[in-house]
Amino acid sequence: MYSLLIFAAVLPVTFIQSIQSVKGFQKEAFEAVHAAEKQLTSVRINPSKNVSSLDIINNASQVYWCEHGFYLPLRPSFTFDPQFHAGMYYVQEASSMFLWHVLNQTVTNPTQKKVLDLCAAPGGKTTLLSSFFTDGLIVSNEVIKSRANILVENVTKWGSENIVVTNNDPSHFKSLENFFDVIVIDAPCSGSGMFRKDKNAIKEWSLDNVVLCSQRQQRIVADVLPALKEDGVLIYSTCSYSKEENEDMVDWLMTTFELETVCIPFDASWGIVESESEQNRGFGYRFYPDQVEGEGFFIAVLKKTKPSPEKKYKEQAIALPVKNDLQILQSFITIPEHFSLFKHDTQIRMLHQLWLQDLKIIAGSLYIKKAGICVGEIKGKDVVPHHELALSTLDLKDSPVISLDKDDALQYLRKNDIIVDTSNGWNIVKYGAARLGWMKVMPNRMNNYYPAEWKILKQ
Ligand code: SAM
Repeated sequence: MYSLLIFAAVLPVTFIQSIQSVKGFQKEAFEAVHAAEKQLTSVRINPSKNVSSLDIINNASQVYWCEHGFYLPLRPSFTFDPQFHAGMYYVQEASSMFLWHVLNQTVTNPTQKKVLDLCAAPGGKTTLLSSFFTDGLIVSNEVIKSRANILVENVTKWGSENIVVTNNDPSHFKSLENFFDVIVIDAPCSGSGMFRKDKNAIKEWSLDNVVLCSQRQQRIVADVLPALKEDGVLIYSTCSYSKEENEDMVDWLMTTFELETVCIPFDASWGIVESESEQNRGFGYRFYPDQVEGEGFFIAVLKKTKPSPEKKYKEQAIALPVKNDLQILQSFITIPEHFSLFKHDTQIRMLHQLWLQDLKIIAGSLYIKKAGICVGEIKGKDVVPHHELALSTLDLKDSPVISLDKDDALQYLRKNDIIVDTSNGWNIVKYGAARLGWMKVMPNRMNNYYPAEWKILKQ
């Protein structure tokens, strides 16, 4: 009781007052759940990797709204789990995984869709999208450069071949008119939904910031909306409880643009609150931590009704590898026929052939940080395989394998030397089914090719 009083006093009074009349808000239960300081930990497994041996989900319970989501009984140290570094799962807050259910309910035919994740770092929604749209093209964008690097790291670990990471301002998407079937905007927000997890979010919260965030959210959506096709789906979410950033945004969107609200059916036992915007009765879905097993979250879905004019896009040419390089590469690895190979600087990359033309269009307007999977580069008569290839889901059956136990796997991930008895040349390093990276074995030494910038520093 004592701690409840202290903590309740810490939640800003202006915040409580500002959400008092918002649908579903129950003051006492809300304050009590924040006072209890219970920490939930959830992960989403990677269905395109071999997750049958995944240790982390032993004794875990299912997240109702996402078939790949699990609550863990305790929070482990993910840093010391090689399966985490292998991208076999992603640590993601459970409410955010509701995106899976939303997609199941709104995208009736998920084949070959072009999807934009506009505010993507660190990559939670992007990795979910790539698991949902298995043959789609996911453009995963982050405007802040340093955060775009974290996004590249998480996308690389996830290993999907269907993601293009870009580093652009939302206004740069204007030239891609009518290009995307689905746009996800997980908008930067005032962050009240994270109050239970992050005490700094409480300190930084203010009414002024809510207003600033809502203005920024309007700018972001207005900038990117032309890039959505007719009948395309706009998914808007925040981790804020404030009406100004949620239902009022839905109202503003429906008033300003030709957008229809989409209703998402769900199971009442999940504890999610369906709300409606005041003016246009647009649907939104609210997550309160006293009512759902998850943090604060809001999501709404809108469909574009405006007809799309034909559009001729600017393109940038993409270089193809020369025949000799292809021959050298093919003696190292078998690339399935449905992939196209192309060059970026000295690297040879691969992407599903279906998306090569779209990649040229994307390159014509955006700054690409990573497209598809980097296979490697040709040096003289040899292939230097790339880390992205090791972490991809591509079959690497022709490569010799170094199988490590957990201690040695952690040594490898620290980029330390490891001594094993194995064949000369490039070896793929594995911990169980998890691929961790490459080692080059020579007669008198072994080189650890784990990327220096990602090595584990914690002892
Ligand atoms: N979708 C991410 C995920 O699931 O992991 C979380 C995204 S976070 C809520 C919002 C992101 O928007 C941040 O990465 C932030 O850097 C980015 N952002 C900040 N200002 C922005 C702006 N003006 N335009 C677009 N994105 C912005």
